[in-house]
Amino acid sequence: MNTLSNRLQKLSPSATFAMSQKSSELKAKGVDVINMAVGEPDFNTPDHIKAAAADAIAADWSRYSPVTGYPDLRSAICGKLLKENGLTYEPSQIVVSNGAKQAITNTVLALVNPSDEVIIPTPCWVSYPQMVKLAEGTPVTIKAPIEQDFKITAAQLEEAITPRTKLIILCTPSNPTGSVYSAEELRSLAEVIVKHEDLYVISDEIYEHIIYTEKPVSIATFPGMQERTIVINGVSKAYAMTGWRIGFSAAPAWITKGINMLQGQYTSGPCSLSQRAALTAWNASQQCVEDMRKVFERRRNLIVELTRAIPGLEVNVPQGAFYLFPKCSSYYGKSDGEKVIRTSDDLAMYLLEVGHVATVGGDSFGSPECFRMSYATSDDNIKEALRRIGEALSRLK
Ligand code: PMP
Ligand code: GLU
Repeated sequence: MNTLSNRLQKLSPSATFAMSQKSSELKAKGVDVINMAVGEPDFNTPDHIKAAAADAIAADWSRYSPVTGYPDLRSAICGKLLKENGLTYEPSQIVVSNGAKQAITNTVLALVNPSDEVIIPTPCWVSYPQMVKLAEGTPVTIKAPIEQDFKITAAQLEEAITPRTKLIILCTPSNPTGSVYSAEELRSLAEVIVKHEDLYVISDEIYEHIIYTEKPVSIATFPGMQERTIVINGVSKAYAMTGWRIGFSAAPAWITKGINMLQGQYTSGPCSLSQRAALTAWNASQQCVEDMRKVFERRRNLIVELTRAIPGLEVNVPQGAFYLFPKCSSYYGKSDGEKVIRTSDDLAMYLLEVGHVATVGGDSFGSPECFRMSYATSDDNIKEALRRIGEALSRLK
């Protein structure tokens, strides 16, 4: 009675949204909480992109779009992939979806059979293992600790591959660590992948433009890899458009066909107006992207410096995205006299309740020794949040 499907019973709710929700609830009660839980740019969508959407409303872009998105938008995406990534795709290989999240879920559902294994380097974004479970596949994690700058090696990848491995989900720049694989590191992973038949990579490049080192390279550019790669990207992070819900997959034609069929049955093409706005985002001047990137870089420097000054926290220096993922396990077993901190989720809850800073425990990213802070917030918020975190942690003995 009142039983949800077995499929859903295996799923966990999104920890990032859950913590953010808790933070909003406390705020609604009048508590002054700083939200570093959810990962989205704190900027508003640039004016020229908003104007394109307003024009689209006035011009009656009000009907269904093709399931895979408007042809001119798919052409613009091909233009972006060629210019920025050196990758040649036909518009027929692109599917525009409800955010990168749907593009990834589409791909997993299109490729994974029950009992297929999907390799996910961890720490990983909270949704990847859940998407694999939705497809009734088996997530197989490879641990990449802070000592490896949270990146897996080719040898680790080789060791994790079995005859049942169908897919690898790679995220660079990474959520939650901000780590970026160099071209050489990606080349060595690609060399392992091409040796195995019927093995594919989802390359999640959603943080491509939020970068503090050389421009990232797509794994699809290495020999033999474009046929094996599904490139994922979108407008959410680069153009501060999380609510508009536009992402895409660029894939070999046979995979795109499958995704098209799937999307045609369960969501159709994404919002017509958002697609018109995204067309402007990709085709117009990219100055807004650089302006936001610079601000994120300044905040990255600030948060790394402030976190390093807190005893017991260990940090890497993220080269991209807007997250810091400090190792905090030195606090486990300690107490403020009332509560004992045993896990990263305990720590995140303690920081929320005592420090009034919302963060996300590392457990749901597959790294129970760390926790995540999003620094997509003002410099003042970052300073105050780290002051509160430092103070709350200093009470743990
Ligand atoms: N991939 C990663 C790694 C992310 O952090 C996010 C943001 N939630 C997404 C994909 C999805 O982005 P969106 O659906 O907003 O395009
Ligand atoms: N990418 C963001 C995060 O990780 C958005 C929330 C989500 O989709 O999980 O916080």
